[in-house]
Amino acid sequence: MKKLFKLLVALAMVMCLAACGSSSSSSDSSDAKTYTIATDTTFAPFEFADDAGEMVGIDMDLIRAIAEDQGIAIKINSVGFDAAMTAVESGEADGMIAGMTINDARKEKYDFSDPYYTSGVTLAVRADSNIKGYEDLKGKTVVAKTSTSGYEFADSIAKKYGFSIKVVEQSSVMYEDLKNGEVDALFEDTPVIKYAIATGQQDFKLPCENESPCEYGFAVKKGENAELLAAFNKGLANLKANGKYDEIVDKYTKVD
Ligand code: GLN
Repeated sequence: MKKLFKLLVALAMVMCLAACGSSSSSSDSSDAKTYTIATDTTFAPFEFADDAGEMVGIDMDLIRAIAEDQGIAIKINSVGFDAAMTAVESGEADGMIAGMTINDARKEKYDFSDPYYTSGVTLAVRADSNIKGYEDLKGKTVVAKTSTSGYEFADSIAKKYGFSIKVVEQSSVMYEDLKNGEVDALFEDTPVIKYAIATGQQDFKLPCENESPCEYGFAVKKGENAELLAAFNKGLANLKANGKYDEIVDKYTKVD
């Protein structure tokens, strides 16, 4: 009898919870969670500020379309790549989308979504440079961005080819440094530097192949925000199925 009573109480609680749940999700309740999503500052065509100062790009359109598809509220915080990773680790941000390479070392700290873009790293030099390959970097200085796979690749071959690395926080600073002759070369993600060249923003060339082929993923802190990660994956699959994903990528990569 006691058992039956307990069971009835439990049942009543479950029903109440279910009722409360449905009433709050069907109304526009103001206590619905807004997820904070951290991103890089200048990483076109993935994230960059447009003329009005709004963050746009493949990552930005993608995360907004996914949020809409999944009925979740998001707020974008454009803080820089390294700062975005720190924000996710500290819980200041719920997730990040920043052209972030999925790799095993990062999987110790983050849970990644399904991959959404294929990328890699490449060397860039000024259009009038004599540098034709890594051998020509002896005694020179290259620039790379803090905590990125571009930096990791540069670091992995720096000794062998005898160059030093200047580390900066933002891609825009790397480009300025190369343009001004402050450094002789830079390492950047291939689609990003290709975009800068194709749009005429930078007068650089790419003497070497694509290195460290990789995939980009959306990331949350390991073991946390599983529902946000699941929503990203579901939304991404929906956008791929309904053509919206291709539309977004084309919008930023078809340069004329
Ligand atoms: N894809 C690179 C990485 O994850 C660079 C990302 C970036 O600079 N926003 O390290």
